[in-house]
Amino acid sequence: MANLILKKDREASLIRHHPWVFSGAVLRIDRNPELGETVNILSHRGDLFAKGAYSPYSNISSRVWTWEPDEDVDRKFFELRIAKALKLREDTGLLSTSVDALRLIHGESDGLPGLIVDRYRDVLVVQFLTAGVEYWRATIIDVLKTLQHVSSIYDRSDAEMRDLEGLKTQNGLLWGEDVADLISIYENDILFSIDIRSGHKTGFYLDQRYNRTVIRKLAEDRDVLDCFSYSGGFTLNALMGGASSVIAVDSSTEALTLLMKNLVGNHLPQDKVSIVEGDVFQVLRRLRDQGKLFDMIILDPPKFAHTTLLAERAARGYKDINLLAFKLLREGGLLATFSCSGGVSADLFQKIVAGAALDAGVDARIILRLGQDVDHPVALNFPEGTYLKGIVLNVSGKN
Ligand code: SAH
Repeated sequence: MANLILKKDREASLIRHHPWVFSGAVLRIDRNPELGETVNILSHRGDLFAKGAYSPYSNISSRVWTWEPDEDVDRKFFELRIAKALKLREDTGLLSTSVDALRLIHGESDGLPGLIVDRYRDVLVVQFLTAGVEYWRATIIDVLKTLQHVSSIYDRSDAEMRDLEGLKTQNGLLWGEDVADLISIYENDILFSIDIRSGHKTGFYLDQRYNRTVIRKLAEDRDVLDCFSYSGGFTLNALMGGASSVIAVDSSTEALTLLMKNLVGNHLPQDKVSIVEGDVFQVLRRLRDQGKLFDMIILDPPKFAHTTLLAERAARGYKDINLLAFKLLREGGLLATFSCSGGVSADLFQKIVAGAALDAGVDARIILRLGQDVDHPVALNFPEGTYLKGIVLNVSGKN
């Protein structure tokens, strides 16, 4: 195995078991390992810190597989890590039995950097996002095949992140029965149609599952505006919770077609729902100009910033939509606002929302803090795993 030797002053994060080795921390690599090959990560003195996967094109040169000097990275390693991830999901007890779509493996936080595995009934949808998991692709598929109730494994390795790793994008069936164009899953008594071939992420925003139940509980008798609705996760839950009306806004025709299908499939009152295809930034302005008011607004935009460097631009986007939303709320109205930008911390997000409230001239207080659901855990040595932040605010008065 090749050795990757760290610079003397760049060992601290590895000592704290952070799983990333940035290229700037590498003193030298003593052979020429292949893309994704396992390397020994050594201190400048030559002590073995960890074993990791080599990513020559990324600015993260290696992601740690194991901190145990005696643990080999082989089929057994993947069997054990995958079994551990499954056990965690079983042990939470928090995922109700009426949930048949969930994330089984959540990358670094399950000790498998770059690997995402989502289950939609008996179909597993997989993303191999880094050179390391790509190198072990065949082994990983082989282990996943042995899991119970799996009829197909589908590859959605078409995320942009693959470019940074020097990998081509891929999308297609990896193993098993051909998959239907749409898969139906139940999530807390609502039937959703999922397009695993070309839907966002692996087809659905599983991370928002719990937060959708929160919206269901709060929506009764409210006029709701669901911004960035995708296929209707929040819209359908608001209706189930007794919302008086819902306007769902998204820029994607495909997402809104699925939303319509989901409404029909659940026999929910279509006459209470208006679907608006458009840019939320413009739609919010139009609604303001029309003098429309709501009792609940949901803002669940896409990732505005992947990195802290882009946080400033993201901040402007968040401030804009939150400010407009505050202006569109009635007295006593609720704003459920989210950020899934890894580069924007929970603190920063709260500050941006506070700035928006101030500029909108409203008095607001946080009544709930939300995050990603239990099948998207965050390993303590990997704080970057916290990406979804949400706050629910009550707008109690206009200043
Ligand atoms: N709340 C959804 C997930 C939202 S994901 C759920 O629980 O399932 C973000 C959505 O924003 C995507 O559907 C994307 O199509 C949409 N989107 C991105 N930019 C947009 C814009 N400027 N205006 C409207 N929709 C946008």
